[in-house]
Amino acid sequence: MNLAPAQPGRCRYCRCTDRCACPEGCSWYDDQATVCDSPLCVARFRLALANAISKLLRIGLKKQQGQRLSCYSMAAVIIDELRKELAMEVRDAKVAS
Ligand SMILES: [Zn+2]
Ligand SMILES: [Zn+2]
Repeated sequence: MNLAPAQPGRCRYCRCTDRCACPEGCSWYDDQATVCDSPLCVARFRLALANAISKLLRIGLKKQQGQRLSCYSMAAVIIDELRKELAMEVRDAKVAS
């Protein structure tokens, strides 16, 4: 689950397009038209964003080894909580779909 380069006009998760929308109907969630607004796609997109930020933070943390009260370590704690929440959203959306 990553933020793969997406092609505008096609959902990067379910591959739906303007011509061939999801069975239950959908529209674009983002301005670039790379994620549709079906609950599972939105949930996966949010989690992927949080994961991408988390990765950047860990790189920052590595460079600041030993500084447990740095902005990076605090932000990493916050983003870990967010990732847990978003992972739950993905699970719920999967159950619902
Ligand atoms: Zn769709
Ligand atoms: Zn989609």
